[in-house]
Amino acid sequence: MDGNLDDWHLDDMEARRISFRGQAGFTFAWDEERSRANAALSNPPIDEQVKAALDARPIHLALTECVCSRPQDWLLPVSRKALPGHEFRHTRVETCDSCAGKRTVDCGGCGASGRVPCGNCSGSGTDRVMCRSCGGMGYFSRTRMGPNNQTEHYRDTCWGCGGGGRINERCGSCGGSGRVTCGRCRGSGQLTCSDCQGRGSRLYIYIRRALVSGRSGLALDEIGFAGWAGILRDHWNALVTKGAIEFSGVEAKDEQASDVLRINFSAAADAARATVRSGDTAAQLYSVGSDWPIVGGEPLLARALDLPDPDGDADWVALTAGLAGKRLLREAIDVTEEKAADHKGQSKDAYQAAQIAEVRDEMIGRYGALIGAEGAASLGNMVMKGIEPLKDRVAGKSWRKNLGIAALLGLVVGIVILVHFPYQDARGADWRETALIYVGVLFVVSIAWALTARLLLRRQLRQLSRKLDLTNMLGAPRHGWTTWGTSLSICTAFAVAVAALYASWHFGWPSRFAGAAENQIRYANATDDQLKDACVAAANAKPMANLYPCRRLCKNPANSLECLMGFGSSAGPALGVEDEYR
Ligand SMILES: [Zn+2]
Ligand SMILES: [Zn+2]
Ligand SMILES: [Zn+2]
Ligand SMILES: [Zn+2]
Repeated sequence: MDGNLDDWHLDDMEARRISFRGQAGFTFAWDEERSRANAALSNPPIDEQVKAALDARPIHLALTECVCSRPQDWLLPVSRKALPGHEFRHTRVETCDSCAGKRTVDCGGCGASGRVPCGNCSGSGTDRVMCRSCGGMGYFSRTRMGPNNQTEHYRDTCWGCGGGGRINERCGSCGGSGRVTCGRCRGSGQLTCSDCQGRGSRLYIYIRRALVSGRSGLALDEIGFAGWAGILRDHWNALVTKGAIEFSGVEAKDEQASDVLRINFSAAADAARATVRSGDTAAQLYSVGSDWPIVGGEPLLARALDLPDPDGDADWVALTAGLAGKRLLREAIDVTEEKAADHKGQSKDAYQAAQIAEVRDEMIGRYGALIGAEGAASLGNMVMKGIEPLKDRVAGKSWRKNLGIAALLGLVVGIVILVHFPYQDARGADWRETALIYVGVLFVVSIAWALTARLLLRRQLRQLSRKLDLTNMLGAPRHGWTTWGTSLSICTAFAVAVAALYASWHFGWPSRFAGAAENQIRYANATDDQLKDACVAAANAKPMANLYPCRRLCKNPANSLECLMGFGSSAGPALGVEDEYR
């Protein structure tokens, strides 16, 4: 069994009709309601109607008949269900509820006082009007003779308004009281009651119903198989509603308790069971009902896939990795991707819990008893708690591998330098130029690898995404290998190469490289005289030795050839030097 659900088969099938007995207990209650009526009924009072009905047929007989004729409506838990034929109606003229018989109701506009604030003066009783003495100016313009007989103009404040130009006057609309007669009730404070049209009484209807509550108990021992009994007990309602249960022998128990009606019944239903096998794993599967059977059983899938307790401390990453690519996990991932938008904006924990619940409900809907509630919740955990860390795990492994290869490249370049440098030294090449070339080569090699590594990492995560059937590919920057991975990879290559070269020089192995390095260090620290001696010795050697000291003595690089020849000719075969460097 690998989660693809394609290699399982049913065994030991058994289908038969199971029958059992049960008893239902019912209680009665009366419920009465009163409301406004528009049309009168000619019925007699309710009490008389009820008495006549119950005299004609006691209520438990009426219910027994109902249960016998439609057992599927009654032999399941019912709560305050109306008993057919037991609804009684009666209308009566009664004192009006709204006005309590007074025929009028308080006016809402004036609070029953009959008067409302004056609109003209906003209830203040006074009106600010223009001062008539000064015409609103607040002063009078006057002239007088000044001390030098010239005319002076001056202002005389108005005494009527004190200079303000306006005076308070009693409001003409309300005569200064601030209140006027209410327009809606014309000052009476009362309005005609609209509920009873001012009659003080109106028509009401009473409705009284007989309500039934009850539940059924089942005697399931004689079925002989606990699986079927469990389904009947847990899903009785659904089975009865879907018509999977056939009732017979429905009858009231002989001796009746005072207020409880007991009804005995027999019932039968189609049932089936089988063993599901897949490889070494087997599980019982059983059902009740034929058209829409309710299936129960042991969770074969959960058992075969070893799905752990969803509330336990399982290694969800390892489980997810083990189930990657299997149909069950892919379906669970699809559910979370579909529902992701529904749960956006929640906290991380709430989001995780909501998504796990979505997966659980959906998978139970699809696989029911095969997976079981716990197994389905486990799948949800795998998706929510396994995939992200699994991605991290894959990316981490890839990182380590990529850095390892970068280190290896550094080592290879280091070895190439170890082999190559003594030849360059023997040729007398300028070690600084050579070193620059080495650095350049190492840089190109390591950056090429860093970019390749990024492609590889991306491809690996894409493969994982495909395997898990993720719609949103796991990709950059989620793998982390961007600038950081690139630079770390380059640094690693350089560090390893430098370490290899330093170690080789320090331990003097191989001796050719160590000797060449020592040469260069010696030349770097030598005086001109020492260099000259070294140059002459090198030029005279057979075959010609390292001419680097000669080159170091030549201050002008453009003339280096003549320069070398000069040193060489003073001591030995100048032409040989020329040949060497042409
Ligand atoms: Zn009324
Ligand atoms: Zn005035
Ligand atoms: Zn007023
Ligand atoms: Zn009013």
